[in-house]
Amino acid sequence: MKKVMTMNKTLDILAFGAHADDVEIGMGGTIAKLVSEGKQIGICDLTNADLSSNGTVALRKQEADRSAEILGVAYRTSLGFPDRGLYMHEEYINKIADVIRTYKPKLVFAPYFEDRHPDHGNCARLVEEAVFSAGIKKYQTKQANQPHKADRMYFYMINGFHRPDFAVDISPFIEKKLSALRAYESQFVRSDDSFDTPLVNGYIETVEARERMFGKQAGVTYAEGFKTKMPILLHRDLIGD
Ligand SMILES: [Zn+2]
Repeated sequence: MKKVMTMNKTLDILAFGAHADDVEIGMGGTIAKLVSEGKQIGICDLTNADLSSNGTVALRKQEADRSAEILGVAYRTSLGFPDRGLYMHEEYINKIADVIRTYKPKLVFAPYFEDRHPDHGNCARLVEEAVFSAGIKKYQTKQANQPHKADRMYFYMINGFHRPDFAVDISPFIEKKLSALRAYESQFVRSDDSFDTPLVNGYIETVEARERMFGKQAGVTYAEGFKTKMPILLHRDLIGD
């Protein structure tokens, strides 16, 4: 996996997913956009997606690296928690908090809770706990013991279509997002020996259509939609720029 050069390097954004491809589905366009603005972005996958119906762990890792390269992320890692085993364990919260403290992101992203795949909601709950614990001074973690409070935590959408609390215009970056998704060939491209899953049945097209709809709602061509528990503070964008 591609890593940042030193452990002292901080990230602007750290996006968590249960499986490699979650982050790309939800916010690949936003990542490509922020990278183009010079932001440092990291992706942390909680599992190696070892229960995926198609592909192997090794192949999925290669695909995840390729996708990260396409999007230009500075850092990607997997914590190797068991697929379908993302339950509320302190050990998991602690490891996630350690990653947050190490890379000190301003913003943390996780999947939105309402999703047909329970791992996505569980990922969100674990990350939310870890974001909180990472900011507690006396909370102990293995590698990085300095507390870190992320400014904000936002939720991206994987499955399902919810009314976003805010949207990011990704019109110039939709092709990059789709290329990053196509890097997961084992998941999204049907082959003779593919196991029939919702992913190999036009999933990328569905994601593109969803971003088109979010774009339509927001008054641009393509947008990604996000949920937040806190109100968004508008500054310059309140009256446009
Ligand atoms: Zn997933």
